[in-house]
Amino acid sequence: MALIKNPCPHCESSLIIRSSEQESPIVKRIYLQCKNLACGFTGQGFLSIESEISPPSIPNIKINLPRVVIRKKILCDYARPDKKSYAHH
Ligand SMILES: [Zn+2]
Repeated sequence: MALIKNPCPHCESSLIIRSSEQESPIVKRIYLQCKNLACGFTGQGFLSIESEISPPSIPNIKINLPRVVIRKKILCDYARPDKKSYAHH
């Protein structure tokens, strides 16, 4: 069970990933539930890998993701998980 930082679209409490199915190597279908018992919202969506920031050391030849350059601030925040700003994407 994982908490994602995105809020419930209805009450803005945290959403919990209750279940998931791997649809492809880069797409996972996720089933979400609002943590707020008084709300009770559930939904589904996708967690997908859309681009590559740095190349892998052991690449899968079936995976061909576009390379993307991201802003330095995001990389710095990623290196310090205590910072919250990267988690809102
Ligand atoms: Zn909710």
